[in-house]
Amino acid sequence: MSEARANDERDEGPAAPDAATPVASVPQPEEEQPTRCGYVAIVGQPNVGKSTLMNSLVGERLSIVTPKPHTTRTRVLGIITDPNRRAQVIFLDTPGMVETPRYRLQEAMANVIRRSMRDSDVVLALFDYTRPDPDLVARTVELVRGAGKPTIYAVNKIDLAPGELDMSPYPEGTLPISALFELNMPALGDAITAKLPLGPYLYPLDALADQPERFFVAELIRETIFEEMDKEIPYTTAIAIEQFIERHAELPGRKDYINATILVDHDSQKGIMIGKGGAKLKRIGRLSREKIERFLERPVYLELYVKVKRDWMKREADLRELGYLDRS
Ligand code: GDP
Ligand code: MG
Repeated sequence: MSEARANDERDEGPAAPDAATPVASVPQPEEEQPTRCGYVAIVGQPNVGKSTLMNSLVGERLSIVTPKPHTTRTRVLGIITDPNRRAQVIFLDTPGMVETPRYRLQEAMANVIRRSMRDSDVVLALFDYTRPDPDLVARTVELVRGAGKPTIYAVNKIDLAPGELDMSPYPEGTLPISALFELNMPALGDAITAKLPLGPYLYPLDALADQPERFFVAELIRETIFEEMDKEIPYTTAIAIEQFIERHAELPGRKDYINATILVDHDSQKGIMIGKGGAKLKRIGRLSREKIERFLERPVYLELYVKVKRDWMKREADLRELGYLDRS
């Protein structure tokens, strides 16, 4: 205890702060609303318009940086931080529900979707207005209800409705939207925000919004390392995207060329990451490439290297360079 404090005879209330400490407990005249943040799993058929929806929701508010390892095994489709609504939404992908699959496949996919929903705070079930298959709607509703999460139903592509909207195939309260023509997007944004739990943002605001693809690519590689390696190693791993050339002229089929370095802390980790005869690194490379291709929706040639960069975690300049800190 400081001397000043010990001699302090003021008695203006409990826990009088040190002079140097800002008085945080005093209510400020314009106290800001608390923030909301959460994971939203999008469930729907393939082609229902998930990617399009992400693009139009993300719009100018694009904010994609993922410096923390995922706590979930589910792929993050996009992160939207909306300062006006004081909300951050982390959208999780789920495998598309198929219409007429064989039973076993259908069940297997349903299990994966259930897992994604378990990882989420809110479920967004998307229907396609041009395919109002009652069986599929019923199956989706049943699956989603089973998760017991706050749920939003929306039917996309209403711009293709020939006349008046027919909402009868969908559950009550389903929001009609068009992701492509951005119809009813604010209503959807409000509906999602209202169901998000209160809490601080999990991802930083500042975006490197000019390079979202690079960041997702790095994140997908890191996610793969998490899945493939023992626990201790990935926490001291960073990914640097050295080169990212779209539709490289010299690659057959004009694939994207991506050259990435996995930075590790110690020499011993480099060996583990590479594995016997390079087998581990090859596997990480292949799995990462498959994820990156799914994300970019085009073929990719991925080159991965491992480099030791001792104590990179402690070196701020490196962190900055890798995008783990603000550039400001
Ligand atoms: P995903 O497979 O769920 O990601 O679906 P996509 O976003 O790739 O969309 C599949 C197709 O539907 C694409 O051709 C989109 O242009 C189209 N699409 C998506 N949203 C809408 C919409 O609101 N209206 C119309 N007319 N087409 C849409
Ligand atoms: Mg898609």
